[in-house]
Amino acid sequence: MSKHDGTNDAGTPAYDEVDVSVLVVGAGAAGARTAIELAERGVDDVLVLGKRSHGDAHTTWARGGINGALGTRDPEDSWAIHAADTLNEGHFVNDPAKVETVTQQMPERLRELDEWGMDYSRTDDGEIDQRYFGAQSFRRTAFAGDHTGESMLDALIEKAQSLDVPYRENVMITKLVSDGESVYGAVGFDMDSGEFVLFNAGTVVLAAGGHAAIYNRHTSRDDENNGDGAALAYDAGAALMDMEFVQFHPTGMAVDEDDPEWAPWSGRLVTEAVRGEGGRLFNSDGERFMERYSPDQMELDARDVVARAIAKEVAEGRGTENGGVYLDISHRDEAFIRERLPRMYARFEELGVDMAEEPVEVAPTSHYGMGGVAVDDHGETAVDGLFAIGETMAGVHGANRLGGNSLAETVAYGVVAGERIAERVDGPGAVPARLVETLVESHVADLAATADSDGTYAVETVFEELQDLMWEHAGILRDEESLAAGLDALDRVREKASDMAVGPITSQSFEYAVDVGFMLTAAEAVLRGARERTESRGAHYRTDYTDTDETWRRNIYFERADLGGMTSRVEPVDSPSEVVQDALDEGHELDYHQLE
Ligand SMILES: Cc1cc2nc3c(=O)[nH]c(=O)nc-3n(C[C@H](O)[C@H](O)[C@H](O)COP(=O)(O)OP(=O)(O)OC[C@H]3O[C@@H](n4cnc5c(N)ncnc54)[C@H](O)[C@@H]3O)c2cc1C
Repeated sequence: MSKHDGTNDAGTPAYDEVDVSVLVVGAGAAGARTAIELAERGVDDVLVLGKRSHGDAHTTWARGGINGALGTRDPEDSWAIHAADTLNEGHFVNDPAKVETVTQQMPERLRELDEWGMDYSRTDDGEIDQRYFGAQSFRRTAFAGDHTGESMLDALIEKAQSLDVPYRENVMITKLVSDGESVYGAVGFDMDSGEFVLFNAGTVVLAAGGHAAIYNRHTSRDDENNGDGAALAYDAGAALMDMEFVQFHPTGMAVDEDDPEWAPWSGRLVTEAVRGEGGRLFNSDGERFMERYSPDQMELDARDVVARAIAKEVAEGRGTENGGVYLDISHRDEAFIRERLPRMYARFEELGVDMAEEPVEVAPTSHYGMGGVAVDDHGETAVDGLFAIGETMAGVHGANRLGGNSLAETVAYGVVAGERIAERVDGPGAVPARLVETLVESHVADLAATADSDGTYAVETVFEELQDLMWEHAGILRDEESLAAGLDALDRVREKASDMAVGPITSQSFEYAVDVGFMLTAAEAVLRGARERTESRGAHYRTDYTDTDETWRRNIYFERADLGGMTSRVEPVDSPSEVVQDALDEGHELDYHQLE
């Protein structure tokens, strides 16, 4: 590590320099799996970093499971049927090649996680067990109780440590060093010491999570999933894609917002596994209302269908006191619930609710952005050397995501990107002199000026205003008027964001100030995409265009225009391979009634 002591005429603040061949931004499942692949292929000049402490990535919050056609319970399952289910659920705007990459790999990825110590729930004869998840034809969701993500990340970290993968914690990346053609590294700051750092790296992998927390009701932690990866890539010259598709999970906790014990749980996930294990939804009239919306698949229909059904029940006055509906698994006995849903059971037990005796209240909540950074089949963006994988990338999920498919995507694309990088890596890149001054030093100076700035608006207020406007204008039900108003409101938030009162570099207010910048980019792309897509498809529902329009079987991309501002382009979607088309034509479907 070297130090640039800030002696130029402009008085640039000091920053450290770190040289590394591959910088992996993000230490969740996607980042960890990439690093393992690189290490196994002999690439050791790698640094994985995260903006939290070691082992603390959002992946740990994943609950219900991870998909792969192992066929433990249903031997007739296959990767091609998994791909067909994924395309069906994505309403055919997914990239079929990416879907096939993930689904073909998953049986092997699941077995390797088993070898690396993942604590899977097992069948009586010791096989990796698989459960039902919504809108899937067979039981293909492998799981570790309801703490699948934590168990998976533990196994990945242990494996990475056994391979001596270098890791740096509590570093936040704020800008990529790119001329729009190639990437040369990244700039950020050490959140403990407050020092600025330039990472010289010829290859940068963004595995920085998603953007679901740009909404006020969401299942993410408040300080994660703010669109860092999407905004960093967009700023570096890569395109964003499918940003209008945001998954609203049907079952977030619906709570009394005035009750200090319950309020922090508002919107938090009640895992789909509760419905997968037989949980039923009732409105305040005691009616099992999914019979009206989806008589065949009932509670296990696609997330968007169930979320809209709940929203409608509530809007039409059949909701609970706290604006939700009831989710009831009390027909299962306590031992079963404790075994299959231990964390859920414990969480509600602590709040004084026994799931084995009574229902819990749930309502839709923002859970996952299907869109993200546009990448090729290897996870590389159009900017040479810049990769985006895991929740940061787009293409696998299309207009809606199957539960269990995002953990699958993290490890599958970790391997794919790792393979590709190992073939082409050629040492640490040096940042070209012209970019040091125009980009690195000016950015470091901007960061320094933001710290301790004495503006008019509190960072938290601007942050929350942005989240509120996204829920109001780009939520479950959308229309032209509201989306246009949302874009105007976003302009006003942008103005306030340039006049914020920010704390020192090591404060949470400084981190949130950087996040607001990322969120503005992600939010603008969501609003613009939702406005441009004049149809309803999957999670994107327009009350003024309620039908799916076949001419819209296309993806919307957003790029930074040369003069600033977002420009969009629209491109058609490819066709699936013959084997997947055959699986689609066979029309596999879950027989819901076998769950009864
Ligand atoms: C409550 C909940 C439950 C879920 N359950 C499931 C499930 O059962 N099955 C399933 O398939 N999916 C589930 N998901 C989705 C799934 O957990 C995620 O899509 C997946 O874990 C993402 O992994 P990742 O490696 O891409 O990113 P993450 O695990 O989010 O990791 C992102 C990493 O990037 C770092 N980072 C971010 N920004 C920066 C920055 N600016 N600078 C430096 N570092 C940065 C973070 O510190 C972190 O290390 C769930 C999601 C939620 C919110």
